[in-house]
Amino acid sequence: MSRLVLLDLDNTLIDRHGAVADWVAEFCTARQLPAETVLHMTGLLRERAVPETFESLQRNLGLAELPAALWDAYVTGLAARVTCTTETLTRLDLLRTAGWAVGVLTNGAADIQRAKLASAGLLDHVDAVCISEEVGARKPDPEAFRMAAALCGHELPGDAWMVGDDPVTDIAGASTAGLRTIWISAGNAWTNPGLTPDHVAQTAVDSADFLLGLPESAR
Ligand SMILES: [Mg+2]
Repeated sequence: MSRLVLLDLDNTLIDRHGAVADWVAEFCTARQLPAETVLHMTGLLRERAVPETFESLQRNLGLAELPAALWDAYVTGLAARVTCTTETLTRLDLLRTAGWAVGVLTNGAADIQRAKLASAGLLDHVDAVCISEEVGARKPDPEAFRMAAALCGHELPGDAWMVGDDPVTDIAGASTAGLRTIWISAGNAWTNPGLTPDHVAQTAVDSADFLLGLPESAR
């Protein structure tokens, strides 16, 4: 059986926070909305953005566009703003060359996650993508990890790692599902005293370098 690494998408492989902030700033400038609205929308959309989010925003801000049109604009706008670095894509290729199965496991709506994956150029560099809306299970539910592993031809627990930035959905969830874990800290301090990631890396590139450097017996 192959070795498996699952990677989170948002704020692990791509900078979602930056894309959201950029899109909100442009959206609010075009409508001459005040700075408080920029802050409110950025906070709301950073937390979680689904089509229903735009129903409440449309109501609260008195926007003329229909929520579905706002969601479509958000999907297109976010996809246009996310990128995956060449260094990251190269590491995914190196992992696969070294015998790892590489999958993306992400929570979110299928349309926006697929648009971002395509726009960032990730689809040609991974073996499978697993999106919560498509499989009906969200991280930290162990079922989400099992389904992602299965899409990569892997059975858990086996020899599997999860890479992600969220201490709960990515790290605690993966640990429960029997995967070893790499937390993408982005310079932040670990805050869950009840659980320790197996490894901490600053970026997805660093996490891949760690995995590529593991001796065979430790994988
Ligand atoms: Mg994330």
